[in-house]
Amino acid sequence: MDKVILLKLGELWLKGDNRGDFVDRLILNIQNVTGVKKADIETRQGRIYINKYDRNIFNSFKYIFGLSGYTEAYRGNNSLEEIEKFSHEIAEEGIQKGVKTFKIETTRALKKFPGNSMEISAKIGESVLNKFEELQVDIHEPDLVINVEIRKEGLFVYSSLDERKAKGGLPVGMSGKGLLMLSGGIDSPVAGWHMLKRGMSIDAVYFHSPPYTGDKTKEKILDICKVLARWKAAPVRLFVPHFTKIQTETSKNVDNAFWTLLHRRFMTKISEKLAQDNNYQTLITGESLGQVASQTIENMAAVSKDIDIPIMRPLLGFDKGETIEIAKDIETYKISILPYEDCCAVFASDRPKTRAQIDSLIKLEKRFEVDKMIEEALADMQIYNISSKKIEHVKR
Ligand code: ATP
Ligand code: MG
Repeated sequence: MDKVILLKLGELWLKGDNRGDFVDRLILNIQNVTGVKKADIETRQGRIYINKYDRNIFNSFKYIFGLSGYTEAYRGNNSLEEIEKFSHEIAEEGIQKGVKTFKIETTRALKKFPGNSMEISAKIGESVLNKFEELQVDIHEPDLVINVEIRKEGLFVYSSLDERKAKGGLPVGMSGKGLLMLSGGIDSPVAGWHMLKRGMSIDAVYFHSPPYTGDKTKEKILDICKVLARWKAAPVRLFVPHFTKIQTETSKNVDNAFWTLLHRRFMTKISEKLAQDNNYQTLITGESLGQVASQTIENMAAVSKDIDIPIMRPLLGFDKGETIEIAKDIETYKISILPYEDCCAVFASDRPKTRAQIDSLIKLEKRFEVDKMIEEALADMQIYNISSKKIEHVKR
């Protein structure tokens, strides 16, 4: 019997005139992730069908933004006999999984099909009851819902047990390009994921400080990029500027209380330059208001003073516990908690300023040849291209 994968579209359908672009992008992303051929993809009002059922690709739809859910479904012609046949099949599979109660839910979009949806559900329900004596109908809390959809393009019958939820959002590629400041911690991968979810195509920058942060930390970052690449439906480019020199130099004759902020300012300026040179429209960080000393409103303002590119902080309003829940769900958590040194831990202030004066910070910065230091860090930069399966070193 012919089975298809039925994809339900999320918010996408609210987009009016842009709808075509959104669907085109979504299909492109589906092809990138699953390798399904264009000829096997059928687009209809509010739906996409993959007309070739394949168990191996089924689970990958969970990673595609723009979909609200998906399921495998029997597809056939609109006739009562076919509805019965598929419903019996689904009921039998259900019984094997321990189902005791069921109901039928019918959508009749093809108005010329005889009978209203209640009548069709009643008829099919009766035929299932007749065939399987062990089953009972339960309208309110059934173990199994057999969904029957009678549409212009054909008949679809599917089991509630096969339905999966996706994350919604918008197809990646619809909301511009951003550069994620990615550290080895829990927050920044989650921040990047939220921007992907809203359709932004992101790449990442990680500031590496060997020997204070070793190869293990970098490997961890590469692995996080692999996970993000799966959600992006495309490879993630990772820029790794060399940060050791800046950190050691700026820590020499500066009050320890200012270290973190000064380093954060250098990171932000270097990221700004990288973004401008590579056409990113915004920076993204994992900051959350008041989580640590460097994330008070005063300190965030001081760090981003005179930065000419927008900075998005999608986790500003998140509690740590909420971020951790999401990190687990999106599969970055187990990598983030590996116990390798964070680049800033070595140079962390013991008594960080919580409400730094912007002026004092800028004055401190004036002691250094900032532009030259930024150029040097960028000249000594590695670049990787990271897909969900492999890591390619583009520049050493
Ligand atoms: P995270 O869990 O993302 O590390 P955090 O709560 O530890 O965040 P901080 O260490 O204060 O917070 O860093 C704040 C943000 O600055 C990070 O979320 C990240 O966006 C950026 N950042 C920090 N360290 C680095 C780094 N080495 N390279 C790139 N970005 C960094
Ligand atoms: Mg951190």
